Formats: sequence, structure tokens, C-alpha cells
Amino acid sequence: MSANFEGAVKTAEGVLFNGVICQPVVEKCEGCDRTKQFEDATYCGSYAQPAAKWALGACNFATHVKASLDKQGKVKLNPLKASKRAAKGR
Ligand code: SF4
Repeated sequence: MSANFEGAVKTAEGVLFNGVICQPVVEKCEGCDRTKQFEDATYCGSYAQPAAKWALGACNFATHVKASLDKQGKVKLNPLKASKRAAKGR
């Protein structure tokens, strides 16, 4: 994984990184390989606003769950097996 919030600055609004304010990850991000620790909080390496990513369903970049919609149009999350995850990360 590349940049580890190198040069990031903590501000009142969130962490300023590459000109973008990053918000901490949400509960559903837990276990995702894209999360990154910066100082006392965890942020997403792919999205500045993880909460927005989950607001409309499931994050399509999540590495820990596979989201799909059921017939009612509700989001279904299927945890990915660790072995699958490792293979996918390559
Ligand atoms: S990629 Fe999605 S699930 Fe993973 S940390 Fe970022 S917002 Fe959360």
C-alpha cells in the first residue's frame, strides 16, 4: 500500500491530506484493508469520507465485505474469507 498519510496535517475538520479533508472511517469499515491509522484515529486510504461511501449502500472498495443487493433492493454484506482477501490483494 502506498502513501501512509505522509505529510498529512490534522485540522479541526479532519486530516488534511493532498488537499482533501479526510474524515475518520465508520464502523462498517472495520476490517477493511484500506484503513490507515493516523495519530489517534483511523482513516480510509481510498476515500476522504467513508461515511458518505456507506450512506447509499455499501462501499464498493471494501476489502473485508462483498456487498450485494437482495431482491428488495436492500444491501447485503457478505464477509470475505481471509484467504480470498489475501489472494485479491495481489
Ligand atoms: S475502502 Fe470503503 S470500507 Fe474500506 S475503509 Fe475505505 S470507505 Fe471504509
